[in-house]
Amino acid sequence: MNENLSLGRIAGIHVGLNWSLLVIGALIAWSLATGILPAAAPGYTSSAYWTAGVVSAFVYLASLLAHELAHSVVAMRRGVRVEGITLWLFGGVSRFSSESSSPGAQALITFVGPLTSLLLGVVFFLLSVAVGGGASAGLVPATLAWLGYINILLGVFNLLPAFPLDGGRILQSVIWLRTGDRLRATNIAARIGMAFAFLLIAYGLVTFFAAGGLFGGVWSVFLGWFLLSAARSEQTGALIRQALSGISVADVMTPNPVQAPDDITVEEALHGYILTSRHSTFPTHDAGGRLSGLLTMAALKQVAPNARNTTLVKEVICPLETVSTASPADPAANLLGASDGCSEGRTLVIDNGRLTGIISPSDINRLLQRSLSGRNQALARSA
Ligand SMILES: [Zn+2]
Repeated sequence: MNENLSLGRIAGIHVGLNWSLLVIGALIAWSLATGILPAAAPGYTSSAYWTAGVVSAFVYLASLLAHELAHSVVAMRRGVRVEGITLWLFGGVSRFSSESSSPGAQALITFVGPLTSLLLGVVFFLLSVAVGGGASAGLVPATLAWLGYINILLGVFNLLPAFPLDGGRILQSVIWLRTGDRLRATNIAARIGMAFAFLLIAYGLVTFFAAGGLFGGVWSVFLGWFLLSAARSEQTGALIRQALSGISVADVMTPNPVQAPDDITVEEALHGYILTSRHSTFPTHDAGGRLSGLLTMAALKQVAPNARNTTLVKEVICPLETVSTASPADPAANLLGASDGCSEGRTLVIDNGRLTGIISPSDINRLLQRSLSGRNQALARSA
């Protein structure tokens, strides 16, 4: 799922939203305002229910964020590189660009998420009691009680031992600790996760066709399908990382790429570089010889033919800050999932401030094909 809206940084961690989160926010506000709250606390106006519903939807999304922030903050402290958090339809995702080094660290990073949800749930329940829950069915205590309930549900659901849910990741850590074999642990946890996902899909279909539960049925099928594909990709990712272990960025890169000056015109770049070379992308340097960015074919195509003589290359390049970079000694596995965008999936390899190589998506594909030929052996070993 992609990020559509950036919320900036919280505790040094980038947070973004996917539009699908709006669907879940609206659904929560609607079901609270029209069903749950009127039943739990009758006698209020419709606008009071809607206000409570909308506020609760925001508090729920903040609770999701707190769950993910707990994962990410602990991960950062344990030396895992955190790319950021994205909130979307099924909750939150913390994206890490490196892996935890030990099963203990991974178990801790994973456990603090559900723990945060459970603690939030208890706090909301206590608040609900404190403002008069129990005997009198007021709107505020009823809303707080729902927030307590939903956070506890979130914590418990995430603790199900179904990879890639948090509980599955804890199970993986435990197997990893016991066997000392991370890949085998991932495989076992992923298989249990897939079995759980199939059960969820089957449950959804039965609910939908036999019991006529439209919403719950469709939701379960969706969630099951999502968990299934997530478990599969975790398993594939683990196999690939295993196959790539010991391969460095320097082994994959095209060394010493030709650099183009960024103060020539687009026309000059077309005839001097793009059309006379088999490469479609060039790192650029400024007048002082410093690396300044990346010139891509797509950027050149954006320039209208009659503007090619008046547009400078530096006006159309991807600036260096937006291009992903690596050092030659980095593990090649770090290159997987490099962001595309402006630089079209290229990574510049920089050693002591000097450009030493470039890596294109086709370099990565070749690497994957080579490593996947060893995949079956890895599977057999870990079965
Ligand atoms: Zn979690």
